[in-house]
Amino acid sequence: MVESIEIDFLPVGEGEHSGDAIAIRWREDGQFKVMIYDGGTQAYGAQLVKHVQEHFQTSYVDYVVNSHPDNDHAGGLLHVLTTLTVGELWMHRPWEYSDLIRDYFHDRRMTDESLAKRLKQKMSAAYALEQAALERGVTIREPFSGDQIGIFTVLSPGRYRYVHNLIPAFQKSPELKENQSTAAAALDAVKGVASYVAARWGFEYLPESVKTSAENESSVILFASIGKNGYLLTGDAGIESLRAAATFASERGIDLPTRVTFAQIPHHGGRHNVSTETLNMLVGNPLEARPEDPVRRAFVSAAALAPRHPKKAVTNAFVSRGFKVVKTKGKHIVHRSPGAPEREGWGPATYEPFYEEVEE
Ligand SMILES: [Zn+2]
Repeated sequence: MVESIEIDFLPVGEGEHSGDAIAIRWREDGQFKVMIYDGGTQAYGAQLVKHVQEHFQTSYVDYVVNSHPDNDHAGGLLHVLTTLTVGELWMHRPWEYSDLIRDYFHDRRMTDESLAKRLKQKMSAAYALEQAALERGVTIREPFSGDQIGIFTVLSPGRYRYVHNLIPAFQKSPELKENQSTAAAALDAVKGVASYVAARWGFEYLPESVKTSAENESSVILFASIGKNGYLLTGDAGIESLRAAATFASERGIDLPTRVTFAQIPHHGGRHNVSTETLNMLVGNPLEARPEDPVRRAFVSAAALAPRHPKKAVTNAFVSRGFKVVKTKGKHIVHRSPGAPEREGWGPATYEPFYEEVEE
């Protein structure tokens, strides 16, 4: 039986770039288990290690999970793996699949080795993590829907979709991502500041036309249920994977909209990862009236200096679905379930309001 859980979001962010570093501890039949879900960029590994040693008072991490191989999520995990003792490392190894997917690429001269090499170079932090685990004899497992990591069930990605849809799209995504963020930043620079439009409770504009990179869509989506509470971790997943996760869960008899009481807002609160319909499938429909005291929590990891994270429209979407929204923005934030060990010196969290104006 699981008695309690603590979920710590460490502040990650160099300049305007956000990342995720999340430390989780739960108590099961009197025993503590520790999971790290993403490690931020390389600079944040030391903070995670310190957190595990100081707050969890151990040097053993049962599960290290890398949601997806981008450096702002995989980077800090190398220090965790080389400094602490790790039970299992859960990460995707896309370079292992090149013989299966080579035919998808137009460049017929590409060999299995050259494709694998390109993926390893592009995902250098994740590849370094894999190599360190192999050197140390740490068990590496690839997370696909249906797998169990401690108390968490993997809801996405499915293995088939990962291999045949997502990996083939990895090649083109760096350009796609670069262009999006550069164009957005350039637009902000021209305008001086982002411009705003009025927002009203009950009127949500989060269209279905959004898209994020295939790497982000490959994020490992996890769900754990403890008594009446449900805990959802999303990494940088976008609408395709969030929907796939909701569908997979419902096939397993888990109705996420009524079960999720804690959610990680995907991709640092970006606008390209959620839509109204997706959120309805994942965490339920917006409420007609503002709740007096929301009981659900949504955490978002956003760099202190990131002007665009989290987007106010995304914050509003969670607030209007009955969540109290808490953002890192340079602060360490923690969710402690009833029965979790006491911690000295922690103040109450500040909750985001429903914004009357959102970015255009
Ligand atoms: Zn990210």
